[in-house]
Amino acid sequence: MRAGPELRSYPVPVYENVRPEGLRAHHTVADLFPTTGAPPRLVVRPTAVAPPAEGRLPDPEDLEAALEPLVDLLAGRRLAVLTGAGVSTDSGIPDYRSPGSSPRRPMTHQQFVSSAAFRRHYWARNHLGWRHLQAAEPNDGHRALAAMEQAGLLTGLITQNIDLLHVRAGSHDVIHLHGRYDRVLCLRCGLVLSREEHDETLVALNPHWRERFTDVADLEVAPDADVVLESTADFKIADCPRCGGILKPDVVFFGDNTSKERVEQAYALVDEAEGLLVAGSSLAVMGGLRFVRRAAKAQRPVGMVNRGATRGDELASVRVHVGTSEALPMLAARLVERRNG
Ligand SMILES: [Zn+2]
Repeated sequence: MRAGPELRSYPVPVYENVRPEGLRAHHTVADLFPTTGAPPRLVVRPTAVAPPAEGRLPDPEDLEAALEPLVDLLAGRRLAVLTGAGVSTDSGIPDYRSPGSSPRRPMTHQQFVSSAAFRRHYWARNHLGWRHLQAAEPNDGHRALAAMEQAGLLTGLITQNIDLLHVRAGSHDVIHLHGRYDRVLCLRCGLVLSREEHDETLVALNPHWRERFTDVADLEVAPDADVVLESTADFKIADCPRCGGILKPDVVFFGDNTSKERVEQAYALVDEAEGLLVAGSSLAVMGGLRFVRRAAKAQRPVGMVNRGATRGDELASVRVHVGTSEALPMLAARLVERRNG
């Protein structure tokens, strides 16, 4: 089944031109506010600093030559694209699942719904983290995929990222497989709030709470807008304004299933396409691999651009181990050339 228009086309919002700066290994409040002398009430402790080099293969010396087999594979075909966290790392959003990253233990759906303490903990961290996603900017990789859509080369784009950077770069046909950070849902009545709107509620309930962190440009932020934070017991959360149900961000938690409808929409994009391009995903988590299997089973060529190995390597006809923000602009340009030539 094809996506309804409400899921496939979004207005491009205007965002502040603010970008998270470099990430540091460890902060305490004493580091951040050294003159207060007060014992820290909150500890901000990143689990990982940056995507590690370990497991990442060396970039090819001649990018154009390295991409040529991929251009040959994909030229003249309408493509579905599947993207993962790797396309957003150059926008300052770390990929916790890249090779060698510290293991994170994300909150599960079950924990979130069964305990108010877990929900407080989650929302306190999200209260800080979501603005970092909002402040991040698309990079050349996102822009190249938007240009490919514009040029009519794509059936659409399936992303595992919730950061909306594809939309902000100008892509329209985007399926957000794991949801999107800018919406909040009531688990009981289905009310949808914007994260912005919910932010006003949380700020009113927790005045001055975020100000403790306003100077912290470099809180470690996970791809799911989570930041690592202890001692969130004093954070106040809000329930659904309509029915009092539990509010949850519109993102797929660890232990959730992606909605069947969204998966079917994504399959439809793959089925309609004459090839699949996987960009910036190691296919390690939550069902990206099924689309590669689907394309391979239908004997459609699969090409991959990713810094390291992926779980779907044996199904790919061509793999190029390079970053997406370097490779995709050149790939897009070559595919358009070939189409026009
Ligand atoms: Zn409700």
